[in-house]
Amino acid sequence: MRFDVLTVFTGYFSVLNESLLGKAIEGGRFLVNTVDIRDFSKDKHRRTDDMPYGGGAGMVMTPEPIMDAIDAVDPLHEAHRIYLSPKGNVLCQQKVEALAKKERILLLCGDYEGVDQRVIDLAIDEEISIGDYVLTGGELPALVLINCVARYLDGVLGSSESTLEESFSNGLLEYPHYTRPEVFCGMSVPKVLLGGNHRDIAEWRLQKSLEVTEARRPDLLEGVDLTPYMPKKKRKHRT
Ligand code: SAM
Repeated sequence: MRFDVLTVFTGYFSVLNESLLGKAIEGGRFLVNTVDIRDFSKDKHRRTDDMPYGGGAGMVMTPEPIMDAIDAVDPLHEAHRIYLSPKGNVLCQQKVEALAKKERILLLCGDYEGVDQRVIDLAIDEEISIGDYVLTGGELPALVLINCVARYLDGVLGSSESTLEESFSNGLLEYPHYTRPEVFCGMSVPKVLLGGNHRDIAEWRLQKSLEVTEARRPDLLEGVDLTPYMPKKKRKHRT
């Protein structure tokens, strides 16, 4: 997988050297090519924004340097081109999994009031938001998208199991986790987790997942087919 990120603030992307993703990039699991849109500005001051037609607050990113940057990194339109925008569809786990199957993704980060609409109309495949709030720029949304998509790429996470049993992957929020010590501040680890009975543990985890989802995100329960996650013993009773 290759990400091309178009931005006027390339410094944001130094955090990609950290943690699991840093190791994965170093190991060649995926590539992030950061492109400074200012390098494509024909203005002697490397400006990439101008005042909005019709007036109003803030500046708008001009189309020429962005289009030239896009043409330079993706001349044949091989990448899936995304503009990070609060007006886009809100990113969810299903979308993340679908994006992880792409070979190339181009991410356009807006700043100021955003980019000239003609760039979106001419060159962008999809607008994606990371939530119903407004940030100063598309750089953090791009990093969020890279992070959650990269987790689905081969060899990025330590264990391939890690994405299978976590919040949203089966439509539910995840059960709670415990590790050593067995008693902490007077609170014990639930007994069932110490017993080693895999069926009991699976039942307990499903129950806890259902409880936390019902309490915090009841909307997720609508339309979720729980059959594959029911312990086998119970499924037999139903048929
Ligand atoms: N004027 C825009 C509006 O009201 O929709 C907001 C522009 S925002 C200050 C500047 C840039 O930040 C946007 O062009 C976009 O690239 C990025 N951005 C801000 N909030 C975002 C969000 N929730 N999801 C994705 N990108 C976002």
